[in-house]
Amino acid sequence: MKVFVIADKCVGCKQCLRSCLYGAIDMVNNLAVINSKCTNCGACIGSCKFGAIAYEGVVAEKEKKDFSLHNGIMVVGEIFQGQLKHVSLELLGKAKELAVKLGEPACMALAGHKLGKISDEVLHYAPARLYLMDNPLLEEYQTDIYVKAMLQLIREVKPAIVLFGATHNGRDLAPRIASELYCGLTADCTELDIDQAEKILLQTRPAFGGNIMATIISPDHRPQMATVRPKVMKMPERMSDKSGEVVEFTPQIGKDDIRTRIRKVVRETTHHVNLEDAQVIVSFGRGIGDKSNIKLIEKLAETLNAEIGASRAVVDKGMISKDHQVGQTGKTVRPKLYIACGISGAVQHLAGMTGSDVVIAVNKDPQAPIFQSATYGILGDLKKVLPALTEEFKKYLKETE
Ligand SMILES: Cc1cc2nc3c(=O)[nH]c(=O)nc-3n(C[C@H](O)[C@H](O)[C@H](O)COP(=O)(O)OP(=O)(O)OC[C@H]3O[C@@H](n4cnc5c(N)ncnc54)[C@H](O)[C@@H]3O)c2cc1C
Repeated sequence: MKVFVIADKCVGCKQCLRSCLYGAIDMVNNLAVINSKCTNCGACIGSCKFGAIAYEGVVAEKEKKDFSLHNGIMVVGEIFQGQLKHVSLELLGKAKELAVKLGEPACMALAGHKLGKISDEVLHYAPARLYLMDNPLLEEYQTDIYVKAMLQLIREVKPAIVLFGATHNGRDLAPRIASELYCGLTADCTELDIDQAEKILLQTRPAFGGNIMATIISPDHRPQMATVRPKVMKMPERMSDKSGEVVEFTPQIGKDDIRTRIRKVVRETTHHVNLEDAQVIVSFGRGIGDKSNIKLIEKLAETLNAEIGASRAVVDKGMISKDHQVGQTGKTVRPKLYIACGISGAVQHLAGMTGSDVVIAVNKDPQAPIFQSATYGILGDLKKVLPALTEEFKKYLKETE
């Protein structure tokens, strides 16, 4: 697609010149003119307040679009090994909050086979509508057929917003659907809100190495699409009653839409680190010092029946595997208790654990930023603090048995 200037709209403000890294815009007679250095990156399009720069073809398409046809929020639910993923319900909870601000319904879409039990459970979380695509061909997640089915449903329902869990499957499905629908996709959002005046989705996520939080909007395309990692949004309350209209949808799919065949599912035999669902996490960072001190963390974790988390610093050092990493580029956790040992509290780490109910920080530096986010702070050397803490917890647990 080629970038071009709409001469009628250009006011000659030169704002686009500053946005172009390639020196590909000249001013001729007070009018921006794209020259041969242009890479069609599109940076100038966003910089023009007057809508005077566009991709060829997109303008015409945009003018044809009528967003009034798009309505409501659709959460694409995910089923894995016969179970609905928690993130689907977390997103439904958030979608319902947004729906109130938008004045439009919050719905869920489910693809799979023999969905009776799962769909019954979803109705306890009260979606306005639950779209079901129940088909043996959709029993296991397969990229091509899921994309095809979901696209048909989205084209039919025309939601204004579509939300996906940022899981392995969600990350596979969402960008393919976004590119087919020619709309944007904001990955790994940490907050979602509605601009009340414009009635558009505000999609917030860390940018530039986590140094800023960017709020991204998609004003010119529908649906607006975002992925959110598990545990970033709170789990909504389960109602005792069921509510929501169930709408069966039959996508036009066939055997030929499945290009890969699952011959065998081999389960991992190593201990699976389940930080996302852990109630208690004992995490350690660079302050652990020597690798042999990790046994202090293991003892405390064992006493509390906790999972072990880690900062990126120790993961990068090879002291523990990446699946233990908490933070922006690791996992987002929401335990009842998070014990941060020898972790300074960098924003990228905090991004993954500030949803914890109670945080205990052990650090020898009184200025460590982690103390600002902690419920309780213990100032001291973790080599002395951790054995004492483990003993105290052991005593307490014995007394309360
Ligand atoms: C794009 C990007 C993404 C990132 N993603 C993540 C992420 O997902 N997760 C993450 O954790 N980081 C992430 N980081 C890295 C992050 O910026 C920090 O560098 C990292 O979190 C620091 O780890 P740390 O707290 O273990 O180490 P440090 O910052 O070095 O802190 C060590 C702490 O231990 C304390 N200490 C030292 N000795 C002792 C002792 N004997 N007893 C008690 N306390 C002691 C020190 O006072 C200090 O506060 C990311 C960075 C970037 C740029």
